[in-house]
Amino acid sequence: MPQPVRRQYWDVPNCDTSEAYARRLDDQDPLRAFRERFHLPAGTIYLDGNSLGLLSVDAERSLLRALDEWKTLGIRGWLEAQSPWFYFAENLGAKAAQLVGAEADEVVLTGTTTVNIHALVASFYRPSEPVRTKILADELNFPSDIFALKGQLKLRGADPAQDLLLVPSADGRTLDEEAIIALMTDEVQLVFLPSVLYRSGQLLDIERLVQAAHARGIVIGFDCSHSAGAVPHHFDAWGVDFAVWCSYKYLNAGPGSSAFLYVNRRHFTREPLLAGWFGCVKERQFEMALDFEPQASAGGWQISSPGILGSAALEGSLAITLEAGIDRVRAKSVALTEYLIDLVDAQLSASPYNFVVGTPREPARRSGHVALERREEAYRISVALRNRGVIPDFRKPDVIRVAPVALYNSYHDVWQLVQHLRQIIDDREHEAVPPAQDLIT
Ligand SMILES: *Cc1c(COP(=O)(O)O)cnc(C)c1O
Repeated sequence: MPQPVRRQYWDVPNCDTSEAYARRLDDQDPLRAFRERFHLPAGTIYLDGNSLGLLSVDAERSLLRALDEWKTLGIRGWLEAQSPWFYFAENLGAKAAQLVGAEADEVVLTGTTTVNIHALVASFYRPSEPVRTKILADELNFPSDIFALKGQLKLRGADPAQDLLLVPSADGRTLDEEAIIALMTDEVQLVFLPSVLYRSGQLLDIERLVQAAHARGIVIGFDCSHSAGAVPHHFDAWGVDFAVWCSYKYLNAGPGSSAFLYVNRRHFTREPLLAGWFGCVKERQFEMALDFEPQASAGGWQISSPGILGSAALEGSLAITLEAGIDRVRAKSVALTEYLIDLVDAQLSASPYNFVVGTPREPARRSGHVALERREEAYRISVALRNRGVIPDFRKPDVIRVAPVALYNSYHDVWQLVQHLRQIIDDREHEAVPPAQDLIT
């Protein structure tokens, strides 16, 4: 099998900016056939898979099958569907466990990202007055995660102003692992961080952070929404205590589809406090007894009946990622973002283009997207791109996020994006865009 031509960021002084080179990279891409299994929105170059991944033929098939099973089986689907609904959450959790280096029963499909943060922090935040009372997070975190942490603190009678520490960022884009570790004091009971900063795309060194937290007697969990399906993880080997991640970004399961949670098996004895009947041991769930006997697995943290229709697409989409192999997905993702960064340096950094790469340049420190920053007019340029059928997203005040996704984007997509940006600025096309912002950017 031909190896992809992969240039490394450290030894490429000049980038081949020709279209023919992009085509050649595509020809040599071992994952290129997967693109044909996705529904690419007509007439667009879709580069927003870090916000909402695309529908595949495989995911469509598993979703339609679930609908048909409801139609033909009714309630019998709980045990008789091809993938029985009663075990659906555990079965898909077992498959997803392979992507994050976990054992089958340490991962379950349940709830949604933020709900799962609540469910796990309720069990893992155990303040011990007067010593360890604080939660450590970061100031670049996704708002929902911080809202959940604040709510959990208030539920325990703690004061977020006192008890939630946010690691500051020196440059507004990235976090320094050293600075995080320096704040792991003996007042901190729990650390909760994103694997990837959603704006800059920086990937944190999870293993190092876990080691530092554990050396200080601190429990540590991660939100891996921006890395699951793009970056391999090794939760068990690293000793991560718990984690959550969504399934609608790089896992392509559809808008608002169910999320995952991971609990390291040494914590299976902890009590799921946001308890619900789907966390019961299966054999006893339908005894309808009033004493809660949780499953001794991640499944114990389920609350409600799994949203079968809302997550049925995941069965197909997860199968695609497993078929491609997370290591090959990561290798292509790194090559795509490397190529994009090279093209930006070569073709978009000088005046009048003035783009700056806001994402770490070392491949090991970034996930699947690249943040293109521009001090002026970034919003209107992002709209001009959309008007040309190129779909990135925009994060205030000045970041255009671009995610070339390994399973369905090509090197030629990346090349075209860069040429569109040049043309927009050459023609001052963005100046015709009204400055008001859309509700969803
Ligand atoms: C995408 C994402 C979320 C979304 O939360 P939902 O509960 O799924 O709406 C939360 N946190 C992070 C870090 C994310 O990347």
